[in-house]
Amino acid sequence: MTTVLTSASPLTAADRCDRCGAQAYLRVVLLSGGELLFCAHHGRKFEPELKKIAAEIQDETERLTAVPGASPEEER
Ligand SMILES: [Zn+2]
Repeated sequence: MTTVLTSASPLTAADRCDRCGAQAYLRVVLLSGGELLFCAHHGRKFEPELKKIAAEIQDETERLTAVPGASPEEER
C-alpha cells in the first residue's frame, strides 16, 4: 500500500532531523518501508549505516553549500 519509489517531493523547512530537530536535508527511505529525516550533520554521521538499510537516500545537502555563509554549523 505504501510503495513510494519516487523522490519527487523536495525537503522543506518543515522537515526536521529525527535526531536533533534541525532542518532536514536528507530523506532516507528504508528497505523496511519507513522513512527517516536527517540534517546535514547527522546525515553525514550516519551515512555508512544508512547505506546498509536504505532503499533510497535523497540527499539535498548541496543546497546548504549553495548558500554561502548560511550554514553556521559547518564542520572542518
Ligand atoms: Zn541532526
